[in-house]
Amino acid sequence: MTSAGTSPVGAREPDSVPSPPYVGPMWCSACGVAAHESLCAPCRRTCVAASDRVAGNLVVRAPYLHEGAARQLVLRVKYGGSPRALSVLADAMASIVDPAILALVPIPRTWVRRWRYGVDPAKALARAVSHRTGIPVVAALSAPIGGRANAGAPRAQRRPPAFIARSGVPDGAVLVDDVVTTGRTVNAAARALGGAIGSALSATTVRGVTSLLRTADPGGTWT
Ligand SMILES: [Zn+2]
Repeated sequence: MTSAGTSPVGAREPDSVPSPPYVGPMWCSACGVAAHESLCAPCRRTCVAASDRVAGNLVVRAPYLHEGAARQLVLRVKYGGSPRALSVLADAMASIVDPAILALVPIPRTWVRRWRYGVDPAKALARAVSHRTGIPVVAALSAPIGGRANAGAPRAQRRPPAFIARSGVPDGAVLVDDVVTTGRTVNAAARALGGAIGSALSATTVRGVTSLLRTADPGGTWT
């Protein structure tokens, strides 16, 4: 770091000092090989665009299916807090977000898992998407301290965390999560908010909808 000779040691440089030019990623954010783009060509080819899907009472929109490099990026965010993977996913989410959305409501990770992995992936993604789109983040939900971890558990044994509403949400808000599979978690979050939210934005989602969700009564409450 160079600084004016009169600056005291440790003093911050003035904001007017330009940062070094950003030269871009030098390795793939998903597989780690040397690359001149954030994703190497082979990884990019494994990223499959996802269609909007209905899960319970929510419409779920995600840029990618939860497979290939996109899945790897989610895992790198979820268990490693990778800022590079976060950036790639946030770019993709920002590119598909409905501009009419008025607030991003992240689905918080349980405190036990937040302490264990040092990251709250949905919150980090929501902030990054907010930074790119200007849509504000509203932290309207609290997660329980613990709870059963769903990742890797058989679907029949998965239970949604018991979310608690901390505040109301504005009309036109969307839930944000890192990945939506069965849809139980996003629907539990929506129920905690009194059903005021009708859509979710995630980095990845799966093909189709589980049989449980297909049996939901479209005119009633999903339980
Ligand atoms: Zn790669």
